[in-house]
Amino acid sequence: MHKIRGYLRHDWDSHKVCQHILKALSAGLQFSDGVHVMIELGNDKISTADYQENLPNLLQAVIMSNGARCGMIQVSCFKELSCSLPDEQNLIDNIAHELGRWYEAQQAAKRIQQMATHDALTGLPNRQLLQDRIAQALIQSSRKDNKLAVLLIDLDHFKTINDSLGHEIGDLLLKEVTARLLDCVRNEDTVARQGGDEFFIVLNSIKEASDAGKVAQKILTSLIRPYNINKNELHIEGSIGIAVYPDHGATAEALLKNSDAAMYYAKETGRNNFQFFTSQLNESAHEKHTLALDLRHALERNQLILHYQPIMNMPDSEMSSMEVLLRWNHPKQGMVSPDKFIGLAEETGLIIPIGEWILETVCMQINHWLKQGYIVPRVAINLSGRQFRDKELVKNIAYILDKNGVSAEYISLEITESMLINDIEKTVETLTKMNEMGIQISIDDFGTGYSSLSYLKRFPIQTLKIDRSFVRDIVTDKNDLTIVTAIIAMAHSLEMKVIAEGIETKDQLNLLIEEGCNYYQGYYFSKPVEAEKIENLFKNPHLLPIKKNRTLRVVN
Ligand code: C2E
Ligand code: CA
Ligand code: CA
Repeated sequence: MHKIRGYLRHDWDSHKVCQHILKALSAGLQFSDGVHVMIELGNDKISTADYQENLPNLLQAVIMSNGARCGMIQVSCFKELSCSLPDEQNLIDNIAHELGRWYEAQQAAKRIQQMATHDALTGLPNRQLLQDRIAQALIQSSRKDNKLAVLLIDLDHFKTINDSLGHEIGDLLLKEVTARLLDCVRNEDTVARQGGDEFFIVLNSIKEASDAGKVAQKILTSLIRPYNINKNELHIEGSIGIAVYPDHGATAEALLKNSDAAMYYAKETGRNNFQFFTSQLNESAHEKHTLALDLRHALERNQLILHYQPIMNMPDSEMSSMEVLLRWNHPKQGMVSPDKFIGLAEETGLIIPIGEWILETVCMQINHWLKQGYIVPRVAINLSGRQFRDKELVKNIAYILDKNGVSAEYISLEITESMLINDIEKTVETLTKMNEMGIQISIDDFGTGYSSLSYLKRFPIQTLKIDRSFVRDIVTDKNDLTIVTAIIAMAHSLEMKVIAEGIETKDQLNLLIEEGCNYYQGYYFSKPVEAEKIENLFKNPHLLPIKKNRTLRVVN
């Protein structure tokens, strides 16, 4: 028995353990001659050479693990031997017991190992195991002079599904995505989940980098097929970043990192596409990462500033409202444009606290102006997609206005067309609530999205802002003028007012006055400026009517 215990090693698999025990047992039995032994444990079943199932069973012991049968030991005999000695039965019982305990410990260790190396939801290898697999595959690839590709697949807008339909549906969708991904690759390739909505695929031994592109295209095509989950038809797209060994990195770590940079690039270039890594990406990814870290502190360190840009009445050029535009006074980089960091703030979720800070600051500014006796026009605040989807948005706006004692009539919100298209009913409900509070809604950058004016009819919107790109060449480009004329006419027929963005010249302004546009905003009158400069306008209203003196501007 002592010898047998020596075989119950934790670094051996059950086949090896059973083999050694079988050998020791058949040699150690008192009546070893003419006796045959069989040991079954889990999926392993081994026996001495002439063992046959139908021999008379002389001795047997069931192996139990966690209270369930996991195998058995049988000792059979050809001859009628009087070998069912109690000692022998005892021995076999003991071995079965010890084997059962060993097996139990092995299974527990396997489960722990599985948990540490696999994702619980999909059963796919996790990032840690993936790293090992890549490292192993790299050794093979370098020996055989093959290429290897790491693909990072990020599902676009998965969070929206999770937030709006619940985690259960989100989980089922991830399982279905897993099945589709496994379907797109060969058995020897690895599909892993890194958590959230990110998956990795390792393509072992490819000939050309372009082979990875073919697989990526296959995956994109497979992902966009509709999903039927609990009677919901869902649609999802993916963005894929690809890093190839040896072209884009020689270690698992480098390939994983570079596939990540390529994936971000794929997202930036319009999603639902794949991109290969390039060394320029690394620089910009690094910059972006640093900027994201800095942005985390921007609020608490008072680095965010609001500028205001007047929106003027046509044709008399009185200030009708103003748009508030965010600025980041970065300690090293100076003023950073919102185009550079609003996207980051969206991705990281920071846009939610930043958005609340904007509204709060605007409220305090309005109160400050009112206290000084100025007539304050409406202030237009930009909303990003993530803010608009936030379930708490209306409640939070109402709370902040109420807390500061500011009437909603001082506020309008600018949203873009693309925010309207998701869930029409919910959007109408949100916008209606805002309207009922007294907040006005403008559609920003109109003309750049996919919606038509007739589509906008369904939503309670008061103003439409024609995107700067149509206004820019309006004086020289007949097409642009035709588009702008049509937008103005149709907006008016839907009882919406029109603001022209980006007016920089007198000619543009005069043309738009002729077309009956209601308001304009642009450098021609003023760039976005600090609150104090806006105050100058309140103090000196004579600065406003540009009919009198066009050279007087708010900007220096
Ligand atoms: P937007 O909402 O379309 O804002 C108008 C942009 O046009 C502003 O750029 C403004 O400075 C610029 N602009 C105004 N008049 C002229 C002009 O005559 N000529 C030219 N070339 N440009 C003009 P800005 O401030 O850099 O903001 C860029 C974008 O960043 C905004 O576009 C908006 O989408 C976003 N953004 C700015 N502030 C906020 C904010 O507080 N929240 C959110 N969510 N987004 C913001
Ligand atoms: Ca805007
Ligand atoms: Ca705009």
